[in-house]
Amino acid sequence: MNKFIPLSIPNFEGNEKKYVNDALDQGWVSTGGAYITQLEKSMADFLHTNNVAACQSGTSALHLSLVEAGVTPGDVVLVPPLTFIAAVNPVKYQFATPVFIDCDDSFCMDPIKLREFCENECVFENNVLTYKNQVVKAVVVVHVFGNMADMVTIMDIAKKFNLKVIEDATEALGTHYTEGKLKGKFAGTIGDFGAYSFNGNKIITTGGGGAITANKPEVVDHLRYLSTQAKNDVHYYIHNEVGYNYRMTNLQAALGVAQMEELPEFIRRKNANYELYKELFNGFELGKLIGFREGTHSNKWFYSLEIDKNKVHASMRDIITALEEKGVQTRAIWGLINEQLPYINEVTYKLEKAPYYAERILNFPSSTQITHEEIEYVVQQIKEVLTSFSK
Ligand SMILES: *Cc1c(COP(=O)(O)O)cnc(C)c1O
Repeated sequence: MNKFIPLSIPNFEGNEKKYVNDALDQGWVSTGGAYITQLEKSMADFLHTNNVAACQSGTSALHLSLVEAGVTPGDVVLVPPLTFIAAVNPVKYQFATPVFIDCDDSFCMDPIKLREFCENECVFENNVLTYKNQVVKAVVVVHVFGNMADMVTIMDIAKKFNLKVIEDATEALGTHYTEGKLKGKFAGTIGDFGAYSFNGNKIITTGGGGAITANKPEVVDHLRYLSTQAKNDVHYYIHNEVGYNYRMTNLQAALGVAQMEELPEFIRRKNANYELYKELFNGFELGKLIGFREGTHSNKWFYSLEIDKNKVHASMRDIITALEEKGVQTRAIWGLINEQLPYINEVTYKLEKAPYYAERILNFPSSTQITHEEIEYVVQQIKEVLTSFSK
């Protein structure tokens, strides 16, 4: 018997097959069909927002947000260095310039450094922020691993400097504030735009897919129009703008509708499993379980352990390989985006925490199907492997 506990796999315990078969039976497999509107409706209800457009991926949702925010060649967009690269690539699709702002201990953008950058490195005149004569138009805020960024402070800064806020909520569907000024507000519904992803490893999946929302319902209508080739007249092929083929298909949406039915249960399990991990890692000296922001309820999509490098003498690769041999799939947090080839010449601002965490964070199994026994096994193996490297 070879044990293998995967990092994160999809869960299809509900109506997925039924709805997908239904879509096939009806012949509605492409970018038209009732499941698409049904998914949009269920997301809007869940997020307490009034308009959501389903699209082809989280990346396309982010790209459309930048287009709609008016980001054009030569503009500056403030972005995070420590996240999945899809959060930043759309800046390049628009031929704009990313500037990397450090994260804080939540792995999300550090609002203090964001403010400092705007105040000290930029010029703010006539309600326009410029950096070296380039207009700073927007900031992309990622809610990393389902942890809410400090949106209260970030929204204040954005308002002060007239920046559009694009929330990358691809990992944070369901995360919301439970206290304070933004109480009841969901990740993705606070800024000007919010992007979601339904890729295979996200909290719900449509195989590949995404969704987008905005703070004004008519803006979402325009995003939907852009995502469907900007058709002004469906029958006579009139197009008044450059559109995109970014719409979700009905087959994907059929999966999505079923997954949305299960989302509350998935979030409940992710939270319960996190609590068990917390209990089991409690007091462990070589690694610290990373928490989630106070005053919020997180979907707890992904779990992170900060490895004490002063005590554990091994590379991330060695740790991951050793765990793989025990049947436990883990991964390192991302490589810094500003160190990837397409970005090595871009400006970075006071990166300290991002490189620190890039070398220390291990992600470990977080699927909704994982059992109590498996969690106990994972913790035991992680403890043994780290201990063996600490001697
Ligand atoms: C998954 C992810 C994306 C991209 O979503 P896709 O649906 O895969 O295009 C963007 N940003 C972050 C932070 C992600 O984790």
